[in-house]
Amino acid sequence: MLAQPAGEWSSTGTADELREMFGLVAGDARQLFALPVMWKDRLCGAMLLGWQREVVLEAEDVAYVRDFADRIGVVLSSSAREARLFYQARYDALTDLPNRHLFTERVTQEIARAQRSNLQLVVLFIALDRYKNVNDTMGHAAGDALIREAAARLRKHLRESDTLCRFGGHEFAILLSGDLGPKQADVVAQHAIETLSQPIVTGDVESFITATVGIALYPNDGKSAAELLRNADTACGRAGGQQNYVYFTDSMNQLAMQRSTIERELRQAIERREFMLYYQPKTDFQSGRIVGAEALIRWQHPQRGVVNPGAFIGVAEETGLIVEMGRFALGEGCRQFSDWHSRDIDLRQIAINVSNRQFRAGTVLKDISKNMVEYGLRSGELELEVTESLMVDNFDEVACVLRELRQLGASVALDDFGTGYSSMSYLERLPFDTLKIDMAFVRPIKDNGEGGAIASAIIAMAHSLNKKVVAEGVETQGQVDFLKRLGCHIAQGYFYGKPLPPEEFEALFRRQNPSGGELPNQSAASV
Ligand code: C2E
Ligand code: CA
Ligand code: CA
Repeated sequence: MLAQPAGEWSSTGTADELREMFGLVAGDARQLFALPVMWKDRLCGAMLLGWQREVVLEAEDVAYVRDFADRIGVVLSSSAREARLFYQARYDALTDLPNRHLFTERVTQEIARAQRSNLQLVVLFIALDRYKNVNDTMGHAAGDALIREAAARLRKHLRESDTLCRFGGHEFAILLSGDLGPKQADVVAQHAIETLSQPIVTGDVESFITATVGIALYPNDGKSAAELLRNADTACGRAGGQQNYVYFTDSMNQLAMQRSTIERELRQAIERREFMLYYQPKTDFQSGRIVGAEALIRWQHPQRGVVNPGAFIGVAEETGLIVEMGRFALGEGCRQFSDWHSRDIDLRQIAINVSNRQFRAGTVLKDISKNMVEYGLRSGELELEVTESLMVDNFDEVACVLRELRQLGASVALDDFGTGYSSMSYLERLPFDTLKIDMAFVRPIKDNGEGGAIASAIIAMAHSLNKKVVAEGVETQGQVDFLKRLGCHIAQGYFYGKPLPPEEFEALFRRQNPSGGELPNQSAASV
């Protein structure tokens, strides 16, 4: 009979004590022989031999039994080691919570059950947003304590049947089982966010973290554990570190999938020179003549045809590929402009978009002056469209570069004006020529002028700053009338013309700007 002691064990115990200690019913044994089972010099059990009569054991028998007990010690030790390894492979040492492997196993099991019984499951993915900060500034010990406390708080709000796991460094995941849906997910997500936003005291320091939660539901958002977890994670990323919880949607996945494809294809597209520029007219409100064009990049995709920047400019910005693309736009725009001039299309100005990343890359000034010289652009003929966000980080340095740009003879337009983080105080000190009212303030202008308060304020401001003002996204006659009356100088929008390939722009220009003769009706110019 083999037993492990339930309490402290003394080798001097009586048979009755031994029986009690090991919780054994040793029948009517009159004599018990106990042998310790040792593992690494530690007692981990005892072997008991019982006889119904008194016996005298021979030395040989004792040796035999002792050998047997030793073997059992070895077996026990290896099964303990296995148990330890099993535990280490499935639990997180810091929090004692299941780790991602065990969690994935449990999700898989629950999916099988849910499938059989037609149930829903909820997976929540929780990221601690400012954990890295604490870890970096206060050290790993504080970081560890924080994780432990976060785990304890999360655990508190869950039912026994739910599984909480530490998914990775600063990430947790929760599986809610038992036919639960969005209603319960809402509650758990809100609890998690709220409980983690309470200050965490470690030692004598208070730290503040916040949590973001992404939620995926079985069966809608994934049929396998891996898919559900990935989608909950994607949703969490979308919550954007705003103490927010977000449900996974299909479109997130499409985007995530497209992203890597787009990046790969963009790199190829740069090599294969698949980009081209479209040109959108900028029309003088008063004369109705086209006075400029904004160059807008297009991707001539070998399978998908012409792709608008909305589908790739974000990825290009993130990956820095925009620097190369912007350089192309600058060169090609200048080339086209000078080509038009050589063929009597005397457009006054060409506008090129310049991304903040191009400024950061530090080659903007050189690229611009090189192209202006190469294609013979004169002062005022090249306008660079930059966004307000450019000024946020380093106003003085940016202002300095813009000043130099203007010395080269380029003008500067503030694009998408009114949508950035503008602090009005910078406007007076910033060297720029043109304000472009974002279409968000043009779109609401109704035929009776209602909805035009912001556009009209921006126009008034541009006047008093002595800047040229352009309205973007002008689409209706009502908007034209309203903006024109307020003294907006230039219109850009579908009312006057969509972005067009160079030949079509050329044709529009010739129609709209006949040398000498009468202007055609304005709306006839809209494409
Ligand atoms: P953006 O600079 O604000 O360009 C204006 C966008 O508004 C263009 O979209 C244009 O087609 C669209 N648009 C113009 N008029 C109207 C209108 O009346 N109604 C509506 N609904 N939309 C109108 P597009 O060409 O898709 O360009 C989108 C953005 O991509 C641009 O916004 C710009 O931020 C970026 N982009 C385009 N080309 C370049 C480039 O060469 N370099 C850089 N850095 N960014 C570029
Ligand atoms: Ca622009
Ligand atoms: Ca714009």
